[in-house]
Amino acid sequence: MPRHPDRQLERLSQPVAARMLAATGTAVIAAGSVEQHGGHLPLGTDAFAAQSIAERVAFRLDTVVAPLGPVGVAPYHLPWPGSLSLSPATMSAVVADVCAALSHAGVSRIVLVNWHEGNSATLRLAAAEVQQRHRVQIVIAETHVITHSMYPEEMEFTHAGSMETAAVLAYEPGLVRLDRRIEASNLAAGETAHGLFRRPDVYPVLQDFHDIAPTGWYGRPELADETRAEEIAEAVADHVVRRASEIWAALGDAGQHGAAEKPEPPDSPAADGLSAAGSGLQR
Ligand SMILES: [Zn+2]
Repeated sequence: MPRHPDRQLERLSQPVAARMLAATGTAVIAAGSVEQHGGHLPLGTDAFAAQSIAERVAFRLDTVVAPLGPVGVAPYHLPWPGSLSLSPATMSAVVADVCAALSHAGVSRIVLVNWHEGNSATLRLAAAEVQQRHRVQIVIAETHVITHSMYPEEMEFTHAGSMETAAVLAYEPGLVRLDRRIEASNLAAGETAHGLFRRPDVYPVLQDFHDIAPTGWYGRPELADETRAEEIAEAVADHVVRRASEIWAALGDAGQHGAAEKPEPPDSPAADGLSAAGSGLQR
């Protein structure tokens, strides 16, 4: 079976969800974005891509995907109406609150499945904050990076090209409308410009996606294929679970040196995990 909507926390009754969370001690969270992807892909492309992989990961770990909401940090797409963005502080606060509630439910391992480059710095900061306050260990899976790395020829690291088209095909094929394509920006110029922002050593910070693609997108969506997209989504989910398992085997349980053994922060009003996280973020 391709997707697993039955793994969505909000679709379950509370007793069922509570049992799964307590039994596995593990939860999955999907992080995406709502932003323009030309005329052929939906605004929610990144959110759907993350959700699709997250459900497959949750199925493999026999647990649930907790909702974070579809919006991510994407201010550089706001020149295109319909795009939405959270400030990093808002997203970080939401991540921390959802993780706190999961910790309260007995979860000690969280897999954050991300599909959006603009979220990465915020997720990392939020995870570090959460881990200081709760007895949880968070692993972050950059699934757009994984997909491209596993299939560098097929899965282009462009914007709204073959990789993202495949991701939507693996989520809901009817959302891809190649007949509604608007003009693509130049592929080589887009790759060169995008490459500057992806440099690991000295790099600029993206302000406006026009600097990469004047028409909003570039790439070759026509290279994506529905059957292949499904195979790739499954392989990426396998990879995430394999790598997360390696990490858990190497690092052991979060509780061994987790927040439970640390003194409460001085400004914390209570030892309860939920309120402790709340006060921390208000600083
Ligand atoms: Zn995207």
